[in-house]
Amino acid sequence: MANDPECLFCRIASGEIPSKQAFADEAVVAFHDIAPRAPTHILLIPREHIRSAAELTDDDAPIVGHLFAVAARVARDQGISDAGYRIVTNIGRGGGQTVDHLHLHLMGGRSMTWPPG
Ligand code: 5GP
Ligand code: ZN
Repeated sequence: MANDPECLFCRIASGEIPSKQAFADEAVVAFHDIAPRAPTHILLIPREHIRSAAELTDDDAPIVGHLFAVAARVARDQGISDAGYRIVTNIGRGGGQTVDHLHLHLMGGRSMTWPPG
């Protein structure tokens, strides 16, 4: 599995940089965002270094499906599932991406506005 030793989220996935984990298995890590924008704000990443959703191919279907399934499970575990929540992935600087390792933002615990800014 490819990793980038310079990548912040690869280093969080390996445990080199500490995080407050909500879930982890052999393929995915979920951890609380360091600067939460909602009462519950968790990031879900594949352990594999994929730069963004723009890099995905059909070969990545299993990991993407697993990421969303884990997000749903974490949302239930965190107690935000019944009220509803948002899953977002930013792509590129214009899309608001600041860390170039694919991640889902799982946000809940408050009402979300639409469209996002
Ligand atoms: P992006 O802006 O790329 O969509 O999301 C990156 C997210 O990573 C931001 O919400 C930011 O607060 C979070 N973040 C940046 N550095 C760290 C860190 O060292 N630890 C954790 N837990 N979150 C981080
Ligand atoms: Zn990475």
